[in-house]
Amino acid sequence: MTATQKLTPEAGAASDLAGTLLIEDLHKSFGDLEVLKGVSLTANRGDVIAIIGGSGSGKSTMLRCINFLETPSAGRIVIGGEEIQMRADGTAANRKQLERVRTRLAMVFQSFNLWTHRTLLENVIEVPVHVLKMPRAQAIEKARALLERVGLAEKEDTYPLFLSGGQQQRAAIARALAVDPAVMLFDEPTSALDPELVGEVLSVMRDLAAEGRTMLVVTHEMNFAREVADHVIYLYQGRIEEQGPPAQIFGNPQSERLKQFLKSIN
Ligand code: ADP
Ligand code: MG
Repeated sequence: MTATQKLTPEAGAASDLAGTLLIEDLHKSFGDLEVLKGVSLTANRGDVIAIIGGSGSGKSTMLRCINFLETPSAGRIVIGGEEIQMRADGTAANRKQLERVRTRLAMVFQSFNLWTHRTLLENVIEVPVHVLKMPRAQAIEKARALLERVGLAEKEDTYPLFLSGGQQQRAAIARALAVDPAVMLFDEPTSALDPELVGEVLSVMRDLAAEGRTMLVVTHEMNFAREVADHVIYLYQGRIEEQGPPAQIFGNPQSERLKQFLKSIN
């Protein structure tokens, strides 16, 4: 499909638009600092898009705008066919719509962001029970299945700080999955991990990608990007400097900046 034609706000939440994401000319400034200078991208359902770039290039800001943790200064964000209108003061023009669209998104952070005073099971059921109003028994059943899926079935009564970083991040992924998100955003999910724990998290993410989930992944794991991503975006100082299929980005980069960046991380 020609996504830019189809992903109009008028198209509403039709199911064939589930998992689609359209970003158009996204700008974000903090005071005088313009961090995003017009970023556009299209993801169709099931696409895995890797976002790479140096520190400070705007990768996290971009994901945070998509998740409405930051209010864009300008541009359009259309998720599942619904465009979210934000007011200048950072509130949504339509709160109900924002809440609805937010539940179609889930974000996994570098720092896990689990609730440390709750067990893994309690972490995973929190949003389904309290935000989505899912019956508790159903939420628990689902949470157990998700914890099993990420290899943590034995740990449901454990508190996060008793777990390794890799286990905590896998629990954070289970928590993200508990809302059945159509789009998942990952912000350097393995950067805080000891090297020997990176693989177990990437392996869970590989599974999710194979399942046909739409994923935007900010990562420094170039092998993961090369093997799993459908499309790679290289961000440089708030602009897309180069993008394309992994074979091109890693095998035949055009931009000097991208060539330098790839050298610097290898
Ligand atoms: P990346 O994730 O690519 O390392 P970020 O999106 O975190 O980059 O940051 C891009 C730039 O925006 C940096 O210069 C950072 O200091 C700045 N920035 C990010 N968030 C804020 C904020 N809330 N207030 C002011 N400046 C910010
Ligand atoms: Mg970042």
